[in-house]
Amino acid sequence: MTETNVFSARHLAEAYQFLNRHGAQAKVLRRAGTDLMVLYNSGSALPAALLDIWRVDELRGISDEGAHLKIGALATYTEIISNAHTRAYAPALIAASRTIGAIQIQNRGTLGGNIANGSPAGDSLPVLARV
Ligand SMILES: Cc1cc2nc3c(=O)[nH]c(=O)nc-3n(C[C@H](O)[C@H](O)[C@H](O)COP(=O)(O)OP(=O)(O)OC[C@H]3O[C@@H](n4cnc5c(N)ncnc54)[C@H](O)[C@@H]3O)c2cc1C
Repeated sequence: MTETNVFSARHLAEAYQFLNRHGAQAKVLRRAGTDLMVLYNSGSALPAALLDIWRVDELRGISDEGAHLKIGALATYTEIISNAHTRAYAPALIAASRTIGAIQIQNRGTLGGNIANGSPAGDSLPVLARV
C-alpha cells in the first residue's frame, strides 16, 4: 500500500511551499472533498500528497470590491446563498447554488472545488462563464 503525505496549511504561503515541494504529485483537498472523496471511495488511487486548505482564511469570504465581487475559493454554496453581496449582485449564482446537491453538499461544497473539478455538469460554471 502506498502512503499519502497530507499537509494542513494555515496560510497561502505554506500551501504554495507544499505544492512546490510535491509538484504534479500533489492534489488540493478541501476538508470535506465532496468531489474528491467520491473519486477515491470509488477506487481511484490516492495521490502521493494531499494539501488540506480548509484552515486557510485568505481563501474565505465574499466582498464587494467596487467594480466586482471577490468570492473566496472556500466559499460554500450556503455562504453564497445567504451573503448580502451575492444577493444584491449575483442572483444567478444564488439560483445555481440552490440546485447543487442537497443542504449537506451546499454546506460543505465550495465554489473553488466546483471550478477546479471542471466537470461538464458543474452547476456554477455556466453562470461564472457569463459574468
Ligand atoms: C451527493 C452529491 C451531490 C452533488 N451534486 C452536485 C450538483 O448538483 N451540482 C454540481 O455542480 N456538483 C455537485 N456535486 C459535486 C461537488 O459537491 C461540487 O463540485 C463541489 O463544489 C466540490 O467542492 P469541494 O470543495 O467539495 O471540492 P473537492 O472535492 O475538495 O475538490 C474537487 C477538485 O478540485 C480541486 N480543488 C478544490 N479546491 C481547490 C482550490 N481552492 N484550488 C485548486 N484546486 C482545488 C481538488 O483537488 C479536486 O480535484 C455533488 C457531489 C455529491 C457528493
